[in-house]
Amino acid sequence: MRKCSNILIVGGGTAGWLTAAFLAKTLSTNDNNSIKIRLIESPEIGIIGVGEGSFPSIRGTLAAIGISEARFIRECHATFKQGIHFCDWVRPAGADSHLGADHYFHPFSQPSQRSDTPELLPYWLHGLAGKESAFAQAVTMQKRIADASRGPKRSSDKDFLGPMNYAYHFDAGRFALLLADHARELGVQHLRGNVDAVHLDETGTIASVQTKEYGELHADLFIDCTGFRARLIGEALGSTFKSVSDVLFVDRALAVQIPYAKPDQAIPSYTISTAHKAGWTWDIGLQERRGIGYVYSSRHSSDEEAEQVLRQYVGAGMDHLQARQLKLQIGYRPTQWIKNCVAIGLSGGFLEPLESSGIGLIETAAYLVSFLFPYNGDFEPIAKTFNHHMNERYERIVDFIKMHYCLSQRRDSAFWIENTANNSIPESLQDKLRMWRSRPPSRLDFITDLEMYPPSSWQYVLYGMEFSTQLPANLIHPDQVATALQEFKNIALVAEHALKDLPDHRQLVDHFCRKA
Ligand code: FAD
Repeated sequence: MRKCSNILIVGGGTAGWLTAAFLAKTLSTNDNNSIKIRLIESPEIGIIGVGEGSFPSIRGTLAAIGISEARFIRECHATFKQGIHFCDWVRPAGADSHLGADHYFHPFSQPSQRSDTPELLPYWLHGLAGKESAFAQAVTMQKRIADASRGPKRSSDKDFLGPMNYAYHFDAGRFALLLADHARELGVQHLRGNVDAVHLDETGTIASVQTKEYGELHADLFIDCTGFRARLIGEALGSTFKSVSDVLFVDRALAVQIPYAKPDQAIPSYTISTAHKAGWTWDIGLQERRGIGYVYSSRHSSDEEAEQVLRQYVGAGMDHLQARQLKLQIGYRPTQWIKNCVAIGLSGGFLEPLESSGIGLIETAAYLVSFLFPYNGDFEPIAKTFNHHMNERYERIVDFIKMHYCLSQRRDSAFWIENTANNSIPESLQDKLRMWRSRPPSRLDFITDLEMYPPSSWQYVLYGMEFSTQLPANLIHPDQVATALQEFKNIALVAEHALKDLPDHRQLVDHFCRKA
């Protein structure tokens, strides 16, 4: 078996450069300096250039590859993201407000859990936090902090740490450029050329790729980061694509960038996701502009209707702007690693951007390639392990995203009627929801290593969507009721202090931009 020491990454979007930087950093620290990493990207095919919301795992990834928080924020025009604010997902805009709130929050911070207090969820379900108190509001102070335009950390806090859990919003094009600079600094060789053909040997292993610019390029491991084209894993190796469009309906996106009217405009530290009749809009605040997009189902809306929805959402700011349209393939390849080729990024799959799973999945895949790295050239067992992990993750993310749709009380369009019909809900999700009707979700429902989203995320969405759980009596311990009640009060009290302690979000961002 030939040693694996020569890696060729094809594609220079977020997936390609993030993988390049991660492998350059982590494989070389494995005391194996002879590994050579090259990345080839087409000068003709651009990157997708969207993907402005991230998940808190990004902080660990940036730290691992050695990019400082200040450099990232400055160069990617980044802001902080403390969660997602969902509007009109439970019922349509303008529905009777007596029915409940028209919005809910999915914060990144976990529910408060001190060693001397019980888990708060059963006590919240029991009504101890007050009938009107939303779950996310009762169990963490993050919503109050985000609502008050405060950042998740103080400027004196160490890189990537703060009292609140957080991720970022950033300019996707700039992020790819920063990653590219950094990967080159770490020794990755950058080639500009087009892979025109892929040569397989008699065993179906990739022997080389053909380029006009450099002729034939050989490698031991090929990483396919060619985006939706999937030039290696799909076109050359024929890995099948499993569409999940029967579960997740959106397949088009319209995106625009709207400059702020004033340079010092307040920036929300959360993504605003607003549901519409055939999809939803994202609204993300960066340093100098908002990134806004409408993701919709082409089965339920024409492109013209979609453009109207986006224009109505944005208002006058879009008068002279043209939205960019993107066609989405929603699904994934159950086999993402075949022989000596592994797919990372959109070439492996994409599950709509509702909970920013795209970059999170790239981080997971890059980590797995590094952790499982086939130094001895024995790809087979590693491919199996990789495929198992990624497959399981994708399935769980499908369930998590679908939960946002299928718990809706909206029935105002075919999109919502079909989204809430049982035949569009995977059995795995139906099973979970059935269990959670008679008891709240518990950590035992989740295999942490295969989940992108922690149990608390499921809980925030579930109860934000007004899901009803019959609470079993054994989950309430009479001698803990007073402690739980006190903890709900403490959370509100500590939030008051935190509001004074934490800086204004824009000022925090400005601080990082000025930092050397
Ligand atoms: P691309 O950016 O498409 O890059 C492909 C690369 O391959 C390019 O460099 C191209 O030149 C190269 N290439 C292609 N063919 C060849 C060839 N033959 N030879 C050489 N090079 C080639 N993710 C999130 O985490 N959060 C979000 O909020 C989010 N929002 C999204 C919104 C939308 C509408 C979409 C579509 C995606 C979103 N994503 C989001 C996903 C995210 O954008 C992608 O996961 C991420 O950008 C990675 O893309 P990529 O690098 O796989 O592909």
